[in-house]
Amino acid sequence: KPDLYYKVDIVVIGAGQAGLSAAYHLQREGLEPGKGFVVLDDEFGAGGAWQHRWDSLTLSNVNGINDLPGLGFDEVIDKDDKAMQANVALPKYYEQYEKTFKLPVIRPVRVTEVIERNGRFLIKTNAVQFNARGIINATGTWKTPHCPKYPGWDKFKGIQLHTGQYKSAEEFKGKHVIVVGGGISAVQLLGEISKVTSTTWVTRRPPDFRNYEFTQLEGRDAVALVEARVREGLPVESVVSVTGLPYTPAIADLLESGVLDRKEMFQEITETGVKWADGTSMEADVIFWNTGFRHSIDHLAGLNLVNKLGGIEMTGKLTTQVAKDPRIHLTGYGPSASTIGANRAGRAAAKELIDFLHLKQQ
Ligand code: FAD
Repeated sequence: KPDLYYKVDIVVIGAGQAGLSAAYHLQREGLEPGKGFVVLDDEFGAGGAWQHRWDSLTLSNVNGINDLPGLGFDEVIDKDDKAMQANVALPKYYEQYEKTFKLPVIRPVRVTEVIERNGRFLIKTNAVQFNARGIINATGTWKTPHCPKYPGWDKFKGIQLHTGQYKSAEEFKGKHVIVVGGGISAVQLLGEISKVTSTTWVTRRPPDFRNYEFTQLEGRDAVALVEARVREGLPVESVVSVTGLPYTPAIADLLESGVLDRKEMFQEITETGVKWADGTSMEADVIFWNTGFRHSIDHLAGLNLVNKLGGIEMTGKLTTQVAKDPRIHLTGYGPSASTIGANRAGRAAAKELIDFLHLKQQ
């Protein structure tokens, strides 16, 4: 029985910053929307992962949003409206972006599996199947929260939640909250939660506060380190893991107040709290895991891209191209997991893939 599918040259998977940037450049390079390429996204509306961020993440405390190519953020959103929620502003911006450039985003379509079939890719989804010569995967990390399962995980009678499930500090009022994790989200959210209730901060490694403003140069160095790892095929590390935590006035205040008096990681979870290796224990109502996300690439498992080191060897100008199969690009992956990185990656991936598939000469 022949497969029924919709045939295009390139399928972009995901319509966040990385996917939209790739789509813009594919179109600009001459691929016809709908026939040359499509963008598949599993959400009901525009905005990528931004639509799920918590309400207190506003334009005043995001790290900085980079413009998508061809339409500035401030052409759509009033950047001075610092109280505006990121989960409102970014979806609005992306929606306008998709409309302005008439990008062929099809949603909600969830890609469940990509396999090779007769020298092309068969992209299986919860709707129709697609068939393409090349793939730009831009699925981000939001859908794959990472939670290390400590002994006793199932015994705990309180609430356990991950960054991705956080709504507002108010829901923790009157509860003792153990916040786990050493990244920016953990610190920002500790700041919020500690205003309404008691908290304890637990991290695996001592926090690495760096006494500098996060300069572009240091950012570039950090990205270069992550890039070097993926070129060698090593498992990806987040950019933040190599930059440390910027020592901002807000963090200085939290240090001063004792909220950031960090404890080392506990050894096990009990019915009512946690227990450390030295036998001491603590009662808690909530364990809040700010332990990061992993790249959402399970749907690519059938392509066997992961090597023995547990990583995917990447190549290309901005390390978006999979070394093992140059018809596949991963954007928003490793060094490009930021709005600025995703932007540049989208451009590199679109151009390199069009060249590799000789799509301009057709
Ligand atoms: P996403 O925005 O996650 O888009 C991926 C899209 O693909 C989503 O719509 C998703 O639903 C869809 N998708 C996933 N799987 C499938 C599938 N199988 N089939 C179909 N569709 C699928 N970066 C900054 O530059 N500045 C900041 O201030 C900043 N703050 C951040 C705050 C938080 C809390 C977090 C978690 C990240 C932050 N980042 C920030 C990082 C930044 O959000 C991302 O790196 C960037 O937006 C790139 O997004 P993306 O396009 O790779 O992914």
